Amino acid sequence: MGDDASAIVVGAGVFGAATALALTRRGWRVTVLERATPGHVGASSGGDSRLLRSSHGGERYYTQLAWDGRSAWRALEADAGREVLVETGIVWFARDERGWEADSAQVCAELGIPVERVDGDRVAELFPSVRIDDLAFGLWEPHAGVLRARVGVQAMVDLAVREGATVRTGVTARAVAGGAVDAGDGPQWADRTIWACGPWLSALFGDRLGLTVTQQDACYFTTSAQWRADRVPAWVDFAGAAYGTGDLDGHGFKCSTDRQGPPFDPDRDDRMPLPAHLDAAREILAHRFPALAGAPLAGTRTCQYTTTADTEFLIAPLDTEEVWVAGGGSGHAFKHGPALGELVADMVDGSRKPDARFALSARTPSGSLRTAGHRG
Ligand SMILES: Cc1cc2nc3c(=O)[nH]c(=O)nc-3n(C[C@H](O)[C@H](O)[C@H](O)COP(=O)(O)OP(=O)(O)OC[C@H]3O[C@@H](n4cnc5c(N)ncnc54)[C@H](O)[C@@H]3O)c2cc1C
Repeated sequence: MGDDASAIVVGAGVFGAATALALTRRGWRVTVLERATPGHVGASSGGDSRLLRSSHGGERYYTQLAWDGRSAWRALEADAGREVLVETGIVWFARDERGWEADSAQVCAELGIPVERVDGDRVAELFPSVRIDDLAFGLWEPHAGVLRARVGVQAMVDLAVREGATVRTGVTARAVAGGAVDAGDGPQWADRTIWACGPWLSALFGDRLGLTVTQQDACYFTTSAQWRADRVPAWVDFAGAAYGTGDLDGHGFKCSTDRQGPPFDPDRDDRMPLPAHLDAAREILAHRFPALAGAPLAGTRTCQYTTTADTEFLIAPLDTEEVWVAGGGSGHAFKHGPALGELVADMVDGSRKPDARFALSARTPSGSLRTAGHRG
């Protein structure tokens, strides 16, 4: 693309904000259209916390992307003057000697990403109270951690504006004839339009995107100061489809099921937690952290996953090379942050070919790239 290339980015979640920042830094004239505000309560990127982990089982691609994402978040923090990543480390509760965590350990080691297999006694040292009798081992990822998601998205948008992008909030865009965008004041064109509308993509472009939007509930529990995020690591039980973090910024100890929930409409459905998700969170808490059995619920956040059939992202041209979709985060996109924006920008500006793994084509259902060993 030429020096005066232009882009319209619709949506200021992690996909849109990161892409807008990357294109702005390449000298593009970028306009971001956001129906609410960056990181708002209904957006998938609007949570208080998201895990950043490199372990992805045997998946080298996402392992490397996440590790690059960590460096990119650190650079962004320096540019923005805000702390986004809290490096708590993550413990993976491995129930099988040769399972997903063993594959993660091998891939991370091959890519030079620090991870350490630890025994149950070492896991027990990391928490005030933790059950270890069902573990084959623990996988310790010291440079993993927790991202302040909303802060991260807002930081990317603020930087894009500082570096020349235009952001319009409170405007709902729709696709109109000829690849144009209408945000209520007539059609607008750009060299590239990127629709990064998270769970709203299906309503905009229909079933052909192959996305499923489901209700997910993050649960937070009231605990003592021993369980703060600066004292305990984040944790994942992949086989048990469970994850959580220490109490970050006073939100409470996070403990949630990562099972895929029922269909969710981000515009019409109440953001009330499902009783089944609350029960699952309480069961996980009592099972894994016995001292926290019966801890009072401090709060919940209802959010949505926008999942592809194979949990790979969707980053592809839509009918013409001028119009793109970027989304299908499948419950694991946030961590890649600014690195994801560079990836999308590479494809949009033509410096990298569209990657078949992200294509708008039939997907073969496969194992989860999320923190859950099963989909249901
Ligand atoms: C409970 C939960 C836990 C998660 N945990 C993790 C984790 O630990 N680690 C991780 O990496 N990922 C995690 N994820 C996944 C991650 O948060 C998502 O993959 C990611 O945030 C998706 O970003 P997005 O930009 O696609 O969508 P969104 O963040 O939803 O952004 C889409 C934006 O588009 C705007 N928009 C929509 N339609 C229009 C329109 N017509 N006009 C203008 N604007 C529009 C919306 O207002 C919104 O701001 C989790 C997700 C959830 C729900």
